Amino acid sequence: MQLTFDCTQCGRCCHDLRLTLSVEEARIWASNGHQVDLLAEGWAWTGTEDETDPAIAWRKATTFPAIVGEVPFRISLRLVARHEGPCPHLQPDMRCGNYEARPRICRIYPLEARPFEAMTPEKRLCPPEAWGRDLPVLERDGSPADAQTATILADHRQTMADDVPIKARLAAALGFAEAALAGEGLANCEPSPTTLLAALAIAEQTRTAPRPNWSIVTNRETTRAMLADLDCPVRLVATGYGFLSAFADER
Ligand code: SF4
Ligand code: SF4
Repeated sequence: MQLTFDCTQCGRCCHDLRLTLSVEEARIWASNGHQVDLLAEGWAWTGTEDETDPAIAWRKATTFPAIVGEVPFRISLRLVARHEGPCPHLQPDMRCGNYEARPRICRIYPLEARPFEAMTPEKRLCPPEAWGRDLPVLERDGSPADAQTATILADHRQTMADDVPIKARLAAALGFAEAALAGEGLANCEPSPTTLLAALAIAEQTRTAPRPNWSIVTNRETTRAMLADLDCPVRLVATGYGFLSAFADER
């Protein structure tokens, strides 16, 4: 099974997006005065998970342990460049003005950055003509056809695991310790670029692991009640500032 593709330079993927960044890429993005958010989600973690399952092993490698009340969790933190409308680097002719220094996530699009997630054209913003059958092969049996792109993708995934400790310290430096339940949404910390850079500097100088106590935010009353029954600290919020929801608000 193979997918063929060629970019039409329509520019759709450079609008209204959250681009997943490594810590180093986030530092550069924020240093240029652009917005970087920190997104958090968590999974209850019993310790009996089958870590021989590659998907479970990946989840463990890209998360850190935390306690919510008395319930063990694992927390995933994602740094994202956020831009409403066009990316600040997008030029009027829809070319990237940051081409040589663009983040890895831009270099691999429309490939899927996450392992164990299939990429299909329907999930992408590219127009139908970008997927013509006579175009170059993009992906073969779920892997990038181009060796250089495969290396960039592998590097991107590796940083998702390597950056876990410093992102945990970054969240602590920002005073951010709330996550959404995985699958329900994402808790969103929106520091200014200056604040993010200052917190990153603290995170780099700190060598001790941050406190493991986290709480949950949700926009669903049933989730709030369920967690409250378990004595987990939980806060009911509305979708919007600080919370990106996968579901309609439920009060
Ligand atoms: S950095 Fe370049 S490729 Fe990436 S979103 Fe911005 S304009 Fe597009
Ligand atoms: S949406 Fe697809 S076709 Fe359009 S610029 Fe982005 S990668 Fe190219």
